[in-house]
Amino acid sequence: PAGPTAAHGRLDEAEVRRLDRAHVFHSWSAQATIDPMPVAGAEGSWFWDHSGRRYLDFSSQLVNVNIGYQHPKLVAAIQEQAGRLLTVSPAFAEESRSRAAAMIAERAPGALNKVFFTNGGAEAVENAVRMARLHTGRHKVMAAYRSYHGATAGAIALTGDPRRWASEPGAAGVVRYWGPYLYRSAFHATTEQEECERALQHLRDLVMVEGAQTIAAILLESVVGTNGILVPPDGYLAGVRQICDEFGIVMVADEVMAGFGRCGEWFAVDHWDVEPDLITFAKGVNSGYVPLGGVLISDEIAATFDHRPFPGGLTYSGHPLACASAVASIEVFEEEGILAHARHLGDDVIGPGLRELAQRHSSVGEVRGLGVFWAVELVRDRTTREPLVPYNATGADAAPMNAVVGACKERGLWPFAHFNRIHVVPPCTTSDEEVRHGLAILDEALLVADEQAASR
Ligand code: PMP
Repeated sequence: PAGPTAAHGRLDEAEVRRLDRAHVFHSWSAQATIDPMPVAGAEGSWFWDHSGRRYLDFSSQLVNVNIGYQHPKLVAAIQEQAGRLLTVSPAFAEESRSRAAAMIAERAPGALNKVFFTNGGAEAVENAVRMARLHTGRHKVMAAYRSYHGATAGAIALTGDPRRWASEPGAAGVVRYWGPYLYRSAFHATTEQEECERALQHLRDLVMVEGAQTIAAILLESVVGTNGILVPPDGYLAGVRQICDEFGIVMVADEVMAGFGRCGEWFAVDHWDVEPDLITFAKGVNSGYVPLGGVLISDEIAATFDHRPFPGGLTYSGHPLACASAVASIEVFEEEGILAHARHLGDDVIGPGLRELAQRHSSVGEVRGLGVFWAVELVRDRTTREPLVPYNATGADAAPMNAVVGACKERGLWPFAHFNRIHVVPPCTTSDEEVRHGLAILDEALLVADEQAASR
């Protein structure tokens, strides 16, 4: 073929939009009601449209661009791998795959020494649960109401939030529980310690009445992500670990969102020195530059499959391009001290900044988080804690939140919004000045929230 074809030429914004509307079927959306913004480019913590209008990204897309956009070292690693070896099936060993697995295992807690690679989070959850069931010979899985685990058949059945409703009845053997969330306590607790004790007692009671010998796994997000950035009280994860040990249950920590720097550590469980049996990861492992996820597996569970085949696999498991970018990403995290920067942003910039906003804005019910993983929960009334919009609000009911989000976007800030919350989840590499700039815009947008809360 001679020279570039039309397919290789750049399309203008109108054409991108036209083809998108005609042929791209979008996630989670009523197709006729959406008008996705064409993105022309991105760098660091910013992305821009075709007219050059720039947005500071306080969402990290879907909380995955932990290292920022277009990091040159990742771009180079992907280019190098592309020029050398683009694809080889999971049945072979390959240099980037071997290195990525070793580097991830070295940074994982204690005895988690093997990695099963997937293309994303949902597949990781599916395979972790499959491993737990085969390891224990039991079938039930306990999963939290306030959770999201992915959109494949098994993962959506384990998800607790309303995204599961359309897929019900889901899977057999899912037992739901309430995790800790002091601000809206399911246990009428008034202190973190009470919330912790009661949440653990609730879990223990459920294990009793379900029958411990039928329960394969307890699944949790180490820090709950999309359902509110719920940081567990000290002692909660250790308490779950203890229940799992007592009853021979596999502890599965879903760190698809919380892992790889989001909480200022490689893994969120590192904050509490708790060692799960399985950890699922994706997103931040390579910032989504190439689809990648996986399950970190303890020696004990891995040994179950030493002489018995593991009945699962994916054509693209451990894809060389994805693994090459994961290797480069882990190196960059260490070279640039990104974990320490993420902790600094949480402790010295985002945390204090949001607490200051909470004092001045009557619509802020609570701010909470750690690292670069924060939520601002908006309410109509601080005493009753009535949410600014109803649970799972859509259409006109969602208008007050849409107004707040719109106020951010008009000012060049791209927030992550869910129900009555704005999540502050920029890339871990965002500078102090950029974060302060974003918080100043959020300050203005919260005036809109205050007005919305007061008007009814
Ligand atoms: N688990 C958690 C905690 C998540 O946040 C997500 C995605 N938001 C998933 C699983 C699913 O990941 P994916 O979309 O890559 O399948």
